[in-house]
Amino acid sequence: MVELSQDPEGVGRMEFMLTLRRRGISDQAVLRAMDEVPREYFVAPDSLELAYGDHALPIACGQTISQPYVVAYMTEQLAVRAHHRVLEVGTGSGYQAAVLSRLVREVISIERYRTLAEAARSRLQTLGYDNVEVVVGDGLNGVPDSAPFDRIIITAAAEAIPETLVAQLAEGGVMLLPVGPHDGAQEIIKLTKMNEGVTQQRLIGVRFVPLLPGQAREL
Ligand code: SAH
Repeated sequence: MVELSQDPEGVGRMEFMLTLRRRGISDQAVLRAMDEVPREYFVAPDSLELAYGDHALPIACGQTISQPYVVAYMTEQLAVRAHHRVLEVGTGSGYQAAVLSRLVREVISIERYRTLAEAARSRLQTLGYDNVEVVVGDGLNGVPDSAPFDRIIITAAAEAIPETLVAQLAEGGVMLLPVGPHDGAQEIIKLTKMNEGVTQQRLIGVRFVPLLPGQAREL
């Protein structure tokens, strides 16, 4: 376990939770899940002391673990229910999947880097989050064998809305994703699928690593 008393920023778990509340996260179940998942298990060893600061941090394969506020915000906006099955595209460290796993029946998370997927899988297993399945592959294809999903969350920035994923969303389902140029301003878009079609809502501005096609070559 990390010694939070040695945290140079003085940002321990208490401050972490206060920051989320101060920034407007109010869903009690989401706050409980954020409080419960030990972020220090998901960051790189040399970032341990920064685990509870409100910023994204580098992980292996040139990727990042998202900022806690953005994880909490997207989780809140996803409006999950206990019986939901959720698809996450972009497992990364597995942190967002871990938070979701505390709130829903099942999380299927897909990652294009085998290295990241395997590390996340073993981390989630160690922590006992056994309702998460980590899949290696191109999330742009979704996971057709497990579709439709009640909720879909994409944690890498898309330049356009991936229609294949919209097709794997259940009726009444919600999909959240950052949309925008890879090196520019992106925003979180919330799509809701209803009988008559799909409605779109623009949420906050964000900065995510790019959503890229194909499974990654091994590093
Ligand atoms: N949700 C992660 C943050 C991941 S960063 C966490 O909580 O740690 C975005 C991740 O999306 C990266 O690991 C990247 O490799 C992955 N990614 C990008 N494009 C992808 C694609 N087409 N399919 C699956 N994963 C993808």
